[in-house]
Amino acid sequence: MAEEKKAPAFKKIMAADMMKKVMANHFYDLNNAAKTGSPKVAWCTSVGPAELLRAMGFLVYFPENHGAVLGATRTAMDYIPLANAVGYSPEICSYLTSDIGAFLKGETPLSKQYKEITSLPKPNVLVYNTNQCRDVKDWMQWYGRRLNVPCIGIETFRNIGDVNEDAVKAISAQIKALVPTLEKISGRKLDIDKLREVVGLSRRCTDLWKQVLETSSAIPSPFTFFDGTIHMGPAVVARGTQEAVDYYEHLLPELKKRIADKVAAVEGERHRIYWDGMPVWGKLRELSTLFLEQKTCVVASTYCNSWVFTALDAKDPFDSMARAYTELFIVRSDDAKEKYIERMRDLFKFDGILFHDSKTCPNNSNNRYGMPQRLAEKLGIPSVVIHGDLNDLRCYSEEQSVTQIEAFIEQLEGKK
Ligand code: SF4
Repeated sequence: MAEEKKAPAFKKIMAADMMKKVMANHFYDLNNAAKTGSPKVAWCTSVGPAELLRAMGFLVYFPENHGAVLGATRTAMDYIPLANAVGYSPEICSYLTSDIGAFLKGETPLSKQYKEITSLPKPNVLVYNTNQCRDVKDWMQWYGRRLNVPCIGIETFRNIGDVNEDAVKAISAQIKALVPTLEKISGRKLDIDKLREVVGLSRRCTDLWKQVLETSSAIPSPFTFFDGTIHMGPAVVARGTQEAVDYYEHLLPELKKRIADKVAAVEGERHRIYWDGMPVWGKLRELSTLFLEQKTCVVASTYCNSWVFTALDAKDPFDSMARAYTELFIVRSDDAKEKYIERMRDLFKFDGILFHDSKTCPNNSNNRYGMPQRLAEKLGIPSVVIHGDLNDLRCYSEEQSVTQIEAFIEQLEGKK
């Protein structure tokens, strides 16, 4: 009888239990605020001015995080058609269409995960930053009209090379201009010392999250991109709080211990890959298993790095927020992005790049204007492009992607 092939084992990160508690507290706090009306709730885009909102006493909810939950639970496709039916194209951001669709249906997968949560907290204000894309503004404005809630935001320049002082001052002025409206809604004056404190906590969270990600520069790597998509939760939803800082202070030593003990996240690591673009949320398990079987570690990504804001500075809260949220990878020109990936190659020592061409997110699909070819020429490393989507699995062919990834790893093997 043929011996049954055993799937390689995932290595559990012990800190995950604490992370689940941080995430649960985030959602339960929002749920309580929804029930009692206090504190007030701000909905914010994922790389919007969350520090300002927290400093002004708002609890902050991130619709994109809900979009990712819809993707990871594979419920997104049930909801996208409802948003299409009210005029939002299947070609635009599938976080947006699945989230609006879920709202229209009055459902959320969070109620399966967290029993007491039956609906999402209603916002008192909606705040966007177009640094990542226009979709986030359209998304917030839809809720603004639907719920009759003020929608305010920041319009960021796009395709920036170096982020100069003029750009920083212009964005900083826009962030300051949000304050009077927020004061009116929150019923309290901005306390600049509180803002400094929150920005300081956010910076500490960022520094720790960066250190967590950089543990993957070790060979073998103790941490993968797929781990990162899970453990980034507190950096996304709780930056600016002590809870997020405590979490990464808890996670980091575990990964450092793995490095000291030479514990590889991918047993027998033979290849190291960089993931550019969005995750395929509904296929994280399958893809991480595939790479595990192929003894290939996806060591770094532009996606997980997007919550590293090293410019934040408690001494200069407005300008440093403006710089941090404008220096983001997604905001930058191809030239600046390529230099960034080159620095990542030097740090993480990867031997190939996977570009995810995400159908409904052209903003974070970097393969479309010749970047893979330019990087191959400059860095001498090959790349592969897989076609899919962040949430809409109808755009993703598993069979084709697996074949492409396996062939790519064979090519890397041939180069060894
Ligand atoms: S960056 Fe992409 S995934 Fe994120 S909100 Fe914009 S279109 Fe959607």
